[in-house]
Amino acid sequence: MHVHVADHPLISHKLTVLRDRETDSPTFRRLAEELVTLLAYEATRDVRVEPVDVQTPVATATGVRLTSPRPLVVPILRAGLGMLEGMQRLLPTAEVGFLGMIRNEETLEADTYAERLPDDLAGRQCYVLDPMLATGGTLAAAIDFLVKRGADHITAVCLLAAPEGVARVERDLADIGVPVTLVTAGLDERLDENGYIVPGLGDAGDRLYGVV
Ligand code: URA
Repeated sequence: MHVHVADHPLISHKLTVLRDRETDSPTFRRLAEELVTLLAYEATRDVRVEPVDVQTPVATATGVRLTSPRPLVVPILRAGLGMLEGMQRLLPTAEVGFLGMIRNEETLEADTYAERLPDDLAGRQCYVLDPMLATGGTLAAAIDFLVKRGADHITAVCLLAAPEGVARVERDLADIGVPVTLVTAGLDERLDENGYIVPGLGDAGDRLYGVV
């Protein structure tokens, strides 16, 4: 997996405010969206385009347009939803699929409990949105799910990642056979005993939507 930690003063600034426990939910949601838009700029460096000619008022110019099939953005429920608007702002013509994953307490593996995706993802570039790459089980399972459906290029966009999670995804997907990139605003120190990223920003879902 190629790991890209986005290094930009605005990204660091917004991440710092997200980390602050005094930041309220409305501000957290707005900043998370803005941060994802900046990460999306990095994450879409390899988005597939093809040449196209347009007529300017003066002459013909050769430019590019996104290829078909369109890219697919896949937020992982629930916290990934808080990243969707920010991603769509930069990639408004992308299609959106949804994936709900939950940890099975018996097998300790991530199970899929909800899914709204095209049956055939052949030729698709997929952008997976999951704010916190913590233990890595959910992200690895989500990517595996998309590749089994035919996706041939995966980029995960995470606000924060832990080294343990990156290692787990790399281990689980060692033989996946398609390029996988992680774009994140920060690679933190470690996980604590409860699986929270340290220093992290707490529970992303709760900070976005409150405790349910
Ligand atoms: N999920 C979160 O929301 N926060 C963490 O720190 C780890 C997992």
